Amino acid sequence: MNGAPQIAIVGGGITGLAAARWLTRARIGGERPRLTVIEAEQRLGGKIRSQAFAGTTVDLGPEALLTAVPAALRLCHELDLEDELVAPLQSRTAVWTRGRLRELPAGILGGLPDGIGPVLRSGILSPIGAARAGVDLMLPAGGRMEPDESVGSLVRRRLGSEALERMIDPLLGGIYGGDPDRLSLRATAPRLHALAREHRSLIRGLMAAGQATPVASGGPTFMTLPGGLARLITGLQRELGPTEVISGERVHRVIPRPDGRYVLRTDTGRRLEVDAAILAVPAYAAQEMLEESAPTAAAELAGIEYTSVAVVWLAFRAAAVPSLPERSGFLVPRGERRTLSACTWASSKWPHLATRPDRVLLRCSVGRGRPEATRLDERTLVSDVTSDLRAAIGIREPPVEWHVARWERAMPQYHVGHLERVERLEVALRHLPRIRLAGAAYHGMGVPQCIAQGEHAATQIATALRP
Ligand SMILES: Cc1cc2nc3c(=O)[nH]c(=O)nc-3n(C[C@H](O)[C@H](O)[C@H](O)COP(=O)(O)OP(=O)(O)OC[C@H]3O[C@@H](n4cnc5c(N)ncnc54)[C@H](O)[C@@H]3O)c2cc1C
Repeated sequence: MNGAPQIAIVGGGITGLAAARWLTRARIGGERPRLTVIEAEQRLGGKIRSQAFAGTTVDLGPEALLTAVPAALRLCHELDLEDELVAPLQSRTAVWTRGRLRELPAGILGGLPDGIGPVLRSGILSPIGAARAGVDLMLPAGGRMEPDESVGSLVRRRLGSEALERMIDPLLGGIYGGDPDRLSLRATAPRLHALAREHRSLIRGLMAAGQATPVASGGPTFMTLPGGLARLITGLQRELGPTEVISGERVHRVIPRPDGRYVLRTDTGRRLEVDAAILAVPAYAAQEMLEESAPTAAAELAGIEYTSVAVVWLAFRAAAVPSLPERSGFLVPRGERRTLSACTWASSKWPHLATRPDRVLLRCSVGRGRPEATRLDERTLVSDVTSDLRAAIGIREPPVEWHVARWERAMPQYHVGHLERVERLEVALRHLPRIRLAGAAYHGMGVPQCIAQGEHAATQIATALRP
């Protein structure tokens, strides 16, 4: 390698930009690498997108940062945004089941309920469902567990179908948007996986974990940035220095050359020669790029499925909305077959969104109970969501303003065997040592996990390029 190494970062979402920023500060063989970010859209940010709505700015993609994974808060600190982070005013949430909203037990959003009593008192389970869950206490241990199984298979076996469908499904669905009977226990619910291995009964395991974890752990579970999470993207962009940013071009081939470099081809006919590349794109896009140069890796990538989701922002006259209980919103089990899969009472959850006393802002997610609803025309979609809201919380009139964001093939599905698949993928890419995959499809799809993966891929590339 002569002179400064040339590195491409394909994909200008949070993963790619976190990787690019890390590399702008690196020295490789005493040189600053020359960086190019290539993004298919005109706009950087990927799933992170903020937009003016109802007199304020709202997030159309992710809306909150999990504080337990430190990468996002650390990045906010480094970008001088830390002092602006806000916590939700409400953190309790409900499930819309058995005909009304029922509060989810405290602690469950952090992964486990604070004991089993609150679960039973919540009324989310019917008396029969609760009795079935109790059978777990008497069941023998499940025998030797498979290395991985679905969340559904464990929860149905130990606690019964109601516990799965009314409690675990809406919770996991809110994050992964998927089917718990296919989602990997190890990848999506590692704490449940560990409890099931360590304890004969899942309920006893939950109780022991509840006692071991102090209820008030201190800070909030989630935080966000007033003005929208896209401020992270503008903050990162500002730090890219002399990085070349090419937007509106899609990379469709990565071709290794005999001298160890790579050629990236884009859909505009551009040919970019680089020493290394980080592919921070969805699995299906990486699959296309690697089809010829790494067919085994491409086949593994093809196995990572995606689901679609729509986010519908609604502004109502305050007088049209009955007083909302002190919660952040509610989740809807898939089995209810509703258009709505979750609703955040945005203007009572986040202090910065309560800009007008005469308006109530709701953020609604669509796609789990009725996947086809994400493709409905805008008016029908808004009307279907509004009628679900009428049934759930008694909204009395249509919204005065709305915005629909459709996210096609947005949520990678960590199906059973996901972690093993990712390991195989890494092995299948060993013959391309300076190509790295990073992002939501692999080791966690939350924004903090994506930042951590982008930075990790950048360190790996820097190491691989060091003489
Ligand atoms: C509706 C919704 C709500 C969410 N809520 C939260 C939340 O509250 N908190 C949280 O932590 N996470 C949340 N997530 C998840 C999180 O937003 C994403 O997992 C994360 O932003 C993904 O970042 P990424 O950079 O890996 O991928 P993306 O954001 O998908 O970025 C990939 C980029 O690659 C580009 N690209 C694709 N193909 C090519 C190509 N061939 N050539 C060049 N560029 C290409 C794309 O245009 C895109 O910009 C949510 C996701 C969605 C969809």
